[in-house]
Amino acid sequence: FDRRIFNFAAGPATLPEEVLKQAADEMLNWRGLGTSVMEISHRSKEFMEVYEEVVQDLRTLMNIPSNYEVLLLQGGGLGQNAAIPMNLMPLAKNGPKADYIVTGIWSEKSYKEAQKYGTANLAASSAAEKFNTIPPRNTWKLSNDAAYVLYCANETIGGVEFPDVPDVGNTPLVADISSNFLSKEMDVTQCGVWFGGIQKNIGPSGVTIVLVRKDLIGHHMGITPLIWDWSVQASTQSMINTPPTFSIYMAGLGFKWLLKQGGVKVIEKRNQEKAGLLYQFLDQSSLYENRVEKQYRSRMNVTFFLKDESLNAQFLAQSNAAGLVALRGHKAAGGMRASIYNAMPIEGVKALIEFMRDFERRA
Ligand code: PMP
Repeated sequence: FDRRIFNFAAGPATLPEEVLKQAADEMLNWRGLGTSVMEISHRSKEFMEVYEEVVQDLRTLMNIPSNYEVLLLQGGGLGQNAAIPMNLMPLAKNGPKADYIVTGIWSEKSYKEAQKYGTANLAASSAAEKFNTIPPRNTWKLSNDAAYVLYCANETIGGVEFPDVPDVGNTPLVADISSNFLSKEMDVTQCGVWFGGIQKNIGPSGVTIVLVRKDLIGHHMGITPLIWDWSVQASTQSMINTPPTFSIYMAGLGFKWLLKQGGVKVIEKRNQEKAGLLYQFLDQSSLYENRVEKQYRSRMNVTFFLKDESLNAQFLAQSNAAGLVALRGHKAAGGMRASIYNAMPIEGVKALIEFMRDFERRA
């Protein structure tokens, strides 16, 4: 390609061109220091300023109350799948225990990982429905002695998203927001913990953000690795060891970009519009179909199938040649998937629809 393409990858994913340009411009000489940001000490005054601004901008964007800690960690969402039970399960009254809501591959992974640290109770699952829906809240079998309830707010592979934060009473709720972080307004007080990597809606891979209510910190198991001990990380500005400085800097550029767009409220409208156009097109098509129950369709990961699957290879080759890349669905789900995170412009979605319409006409 001799130009930037429309990249529908699920993560790492497309970034705003302005962000990439700024990073490129500053690469050799950042803030007149004669070096790039990635070559200086994480403990330097200059980097600490970046770090503090990153945390402050995130607090502004998500309206994070002061009784929540913002941690910038490593190890990804998968790391937190282990860190969460280790940090929280001891809060349970009758031995380490937590409830899990399984609505797709990612929450299933969380549920399986938790079993290593205590009792993970499968409170609800949509596996029998091929993860195309969310089990109705009144069917969930929550325990009365669980330390927390974990759910995945957006299942990246199946393309299933909770329209609202579920009500689980007084038990702290833990939300995996890896793939819908900052894509829509979220009331932070509704969950005890929110976690996810930055590599979909914010920046490159390398940083896992954990927002945790302060009273949930300090109850960890003795075996908890230092780097995932939330109390240690909270008291050292997430710098018990060398943090991923360049990714933190890139997250900062991503936050500034989002603030410039008008913040989460504005991006939410755009995301709604982008997903709306795509689903509307899929619903009227006789070649393509989305299989997710309508009210739970993801605004971030639009999954679809060609009713004639023998056309899959052709579809992928031709879309790729047209500069619409990474549309192949996850191997666990098959079919296609267009990930349309914050940085995907509406022009990209329109170009995809035009291509799909044309492909259907020729099929
Ligand atoms: N949860 C969800 C919903 C995800 O989409 C992903 C990554 N695709 C993960 C967890 C795992 O995150 P990571 O790759 O950062 O470990």
